Amino acid sequence: MSGNALKDTKKLQASFVPPTPPAPDTAQEYSESTHQSHTRSIADEITEKTFQDVSLCYQCGKCSAGCPVRFYMDIAPNKVVRLIQLGLYDEALSSTTPWLCAGCLTCSTRCPNSFDLAKFMDAVREVALEKGVDVKEKDILNFHKAFLDQIRHHGRSYEVGLVADYKMRTLNLLQDVDSAPGMFVNGKLSALPHNIKDKKSVKDIFKKTSGKQKQKPL
Ligand code: SF4
Ligand code: SF4
Repeated sequence: MSGNALKDTKKLQASFVPPTPPAPDTAQEYSESTHQSHTRSIADEITEKTFQDVSLCYQCGKCSAGCPVRFYMDIAPNKVVRLIQLGLYDEALSSTTPWLCAGCLTCSTRCPNSFDLAKFMDAVREVALEKGVDVKEKDILNFHKAFLDQIRHHGRSYEVGLVADYKMRTLNLLQDVDSAPGMFVNGKLSALPHNIKDKKSVKDIFKKTSGKQKQKPL
């Protein structure tokens, strides 16, 4: 990202204030607004995490047409946005789509309305974990956790640790094990981790953000 683009993003983040609904005048309006605020809350959470309003997406479908893993997803990426727009959170959060998203950014670059769908998918995964949703793609979730563990401990990815952690989580102990010797010989795997110098800063980031992983009801 260029310096100017980074500055613009920071300015946008600093100035972002989530929209406040008008105060209700009657008991019935109050009851309706309470119901709406409950059903809208996840859309608001995603908006706050991504600094972009989900209503920006006008469902042209260009993102899904170019998504390289669309074939494996249960719901097209743009439809996940639509479910969130409509307040159909259970369907959106339990979809395999956010977990199969490879974060390749093809959708974000193609969107004619500059909606960052890759960032949206990140936020949906985060919210699903925070709400304690039963993730269908358990192996992907295990890989996700094993990868983050390496970053937490070493400040960067450590492939051997990642594979060992993933295998302990999934108990797929022998899967792909025959490819390991060749990778060691060709220098693709290192027996020891290469830690970054300032591991403490990375650990601090994990400490600051891990409190957000509390599970709440939908
Ligand atoms: S390309 Fe953009 S506007 Fe079109 S459906 Fe995808 S996210 Fe929505
Ligand atoms: S970032 Fe995810 S949703 Fe977007 S095109 Fe890539 S894989 Fe598909």
